[in-house]
Amino acid sequence: MRSPDVVVIGGGIAGASVAYELAADRSVVLLETERTPGHHSTARSAATYIPGHGVEAVRALIAASDPRFAALPAELGTPPLLAPRPVLWVACDAEGERALAAVLAERAGEPDAPVPLDPADAQRRCPALAPGRVRAAGLTAGAADIDTDALLQGYLRGLRARGGQVRTGAAAAEISRDGARWRVGELSTGAVVDAAGAWADEVAARAGVPRIGLTPLRRTIAVARVPDPRRLRVPGDARPPMVIEAAERFYFKAESDDLLVSRADETPVPPGDARPDDADVALALERVEAVTALGLRSVRTSWAGLRSFVADRAPVVGAWPAHPGFFFVAGQGGSGIESAPALAVLAADVVRGAVPPPALAPERL
Ligand SMILES: Cc1cc2nc3c(=O)[nH]c(=O)nc-3n(C[C@H](O)[C@H](O)[C@H](O)COP(=O)(O)OP(=O)(O)OC[C@H]3O[C@@H](n4cnc5c(N)ncnc54)[C@H](O)[C@@H]3O)c2cc1C
Repeated sequence: MRSPDVVVIGGGIAGASVAYELAADRSVVLLETERTPGHHSTARSAATYIPGHGVEAVRALIAASDPRFAALPAELGTPPLLAPRPVLWVACDAEGERALAAVLAERAGEPDAPVPLDPADAQRRCPALAPGRVRAAGLTAGAADIDTDALLQGYLRGLRARGGQVRTGAAAAEISRDGARWRVGELSTGAVVDAAGAWADEVAARAGVPRIGLTPLRRTIAVARVPDPRRLRVPGDARPPMVIEAAERFYFKAESDDLLVSRADETPVPPGDARPDDADVALALERVEAVTALGLRSVRTSWAGLRSFVADRAPVVGAWPAHPGFFFVAGQGGSGIESAPALAVLAADVVRGAVPPPALAPERL
């Protein structure tokens, strides 16, 4: 396929999902630098679906993804993609209380908004929280864990089943305009989708297309050993809730007998293969220990990944008017998995000619 309708650059969740949606009625080639799709941000997330979280455009995409998450298992032949796990928002100091009050007030009345929760109730729902540490709390009951790998592999399988090609170890290096078409290496195409994650601006620059002003922010996650894992259990078979500090200075969730922890760091870095920082791991343990008293001291494993944002923290979908045919699908920040199903449908429509919503179009930047 040397002249596909569309070349998608990037084999993370963004590229795989939009390529799958486009392959319904377009010939598609997906190019991924790495040997394994999903190697970068997609494989390194906390894999959480949190309705009502993020800026308004992101909240709308997360809500619109819910019915797609329910439909995709039958469509792609995957296991169920969401496993319910509520989110507890906890405030343990004045700053946390202010942040929680602000979110509860701003979102009040929205269907997915967190609801206030009595701190004692929060501790009952999450015995890992040490008694008396939580001053105020909120609950997002409809949150869930996402089976990210099943989602990614399902999209890639579905793409191939629709006749699309996935080329790994295949970096898009030379990209240039060719009359009304584009050249990507030896491929000639009518449309390029730049779904290169943290590299989306580098790919645009290589194509002679203006940048969108993407900043990759590194975030570190560690999996800590828990001396007494019984503290992680909740009554019945339910998954223990995920706990997020209201001012987003740390979060944690149980992974069988261990605890996944993060200090929710946001360190600007150039695009690349992010590595965990020991100081971020230590601070995550310290902050989570302060509210749990679980005796967290040692770490089983840790990793880091990039969450890439533009200035207003909403994704970017569409082409600059002066550069038709070069479409960004980038800037999903910390919500690229939970919003992927709806974002992919929307982005595919934009590549087919629909006008992107002003809140997502590059012209807003
Ligand atoms: C620690 C952490 C926690 C997170 N938690 C959550 C969460 O709980 N829920 C959630 O929804 N999201 C979460 N996210 C965010 C989510 O992981 C990202 O938004 C999402 O993975 C972005 O997907 P992507 O496909 O755009 O990027 P990536 O997965 O990075 O994919 C981009 C791909 O493009 C490829 N590429 C780059 N340049 C080229 C080129 N020239 N040619 C070919 N290929 C190229 C790269 O190799 C890469 O594989 C988290 C992220 C991190 C780091």
